[in-house]
Amino acid sequence: MSQFKTVRGMRDFLPKDAEKIRYVEKIARELAHLYGYEEVITPVLEHYNLLAAKSSEEIRERMYAFKDLGGRRVALRPEFTASIARLIATKMRNAPKPMKLFCTGSLYRYDEPQYGRFREFWQANYELIGSNEPETDMEIITLTNDLARRLGFRRYWFKIGHMGILRGILNQEGVAEGQQNLIMQLLDKKRWDEALTLAKESNISQNGITVLKKTLETKGKDVSQVLKTAKRVVADYDDAVAAIENLGKILELTEKSNVKFETIVEAGFARGLEYYTGIIFELYVPDLEIALGGGGRYDKLIELFGGEQTPAVGVAPGIDRLVLAMDKQKVSLKISEENKVMIIAVDEELRTKAVELSLTLRKAKIPVDVELMGRAVSKALSDADRRGATHAVIVGTKELKEGKVVLKDLKKREQRIVEIKTLSKEILKDTG
Ligand code: AMP
Repeated sequence: MSQFKTVRGMRDFLPKDAEKIRYVEKIARELAHLYGYEEVITPVLEHYNLLAAKSSEEIRERMYAFKDLGGRRVALRPEFTASIARLIATKMRNAPKPMKLFCTGSLYRYDEPQYGRFREFWQANYELIGSNEPETDMEIITLTNDLARRLGFRRYWFKIGHMGILRGILNQEGVAEGQQNLIMQLLDKKRWDEALTLAKESNISQNGITVLKKTLETKGKDVSQVLKTAKRVVADYDDAVAAIENLGKILELTEKSNVKFETIVEAGFARGLEYYTGIIFELYVPDLEIALGGGGRYDKLIELFGGEQTPAVGVAPGIDRLVLAMDKQKVSLKISEENKVMIIAVDEELRTKAVELSLTLRKAKIPVDVELMGRAVSKALSDADRRGATHAVIVGTKELKEGKVVLKDLKKREQRIVEIKTLSKEILKDTG
């Protein structure tokens, strides 16, 4: 019956998958801490107008939007940046700059579900607000690079561009902003021909079309070569040239700081969200065509929400996509081996003693299960094995009289009788 299935595009995460999501989230949070980003929690539900203001036509059409019972037009957040910009424009107006904020959680877009694309997904989100120094763009890229490395990807690369290149050409050609946004969206979807057709319909000069075409073709791994070519291609468009210089400066800084990663520079790179104004980038791994994360500079958004003019740059790694990529690349979780103990009472009267022991072990930070199904010892032991327990503690009358229990090392298949007083120490000793 359909009510017993998840809603289309929504997923259940069973323990093994949930563990992976939380693992990536944990690494992402640790990284935030190491780079000085403080965590904030914003609501899943926001005013529709806030979320719609500067996302994109596509996102606006695909929001889970509805009227709440009070008649407010609200929507489930499709991304974090609008909420963060709202915070900066209001409650954090006077916070000292730069502000470095981290958040993580679920997002909702009514996309067509497909490989790596769901209607509910998770992101970690880092925003560096209050400065437009190229060092801040560099920090966001460095941090993303660090995340990829910490998660253990052997190969990955950044696709990098600058929103100012295409905007610089289109602005100088007098293309209205709305029309520019539609062109960008087509480019983001790699529908280059349609984007060029739309550009032609926007009364761009012949030279403009030629430059646009050449810009879209200007890409490659050799950063300085691509930037040199791009600069030649857009030479007539001052803002586009300035954008390339800015991009060059940021990439030069990363290189000089010895931050190492593979790069593909694409002069005609566009991202779906409308608020980007500067560098834009996405993270990729081999054999997976979808981006694992994306980010860029957005200098006008906070002002749009009534704040002061505040430059900002950020990145949003997709948590479930990173998990997908880790599975595909066979990257294992770096989780240290932990003890896990099952306490089994030999008979019913000893069950309270088992509970008492479990509390003592948990105080020593040892994860403990107590046998809860009333199973006989042999059945309980095979159940403990199945659950991946490292130890079983068997509570029997005879040993208990002497203040002792049986400790079974389930990995080594050895057992010994130990004093209850030293039980936690004995267990911890086994894994050092
Ligand atoms: P965006 O917010 O569109 O810039 O996307 C940033 C990152 O979020 C992407 O690179 C993906 O990793 C992830 N992402 C975006 N949309 C989805 C989706 N529908 N399902 C899963 N992950 C997504």
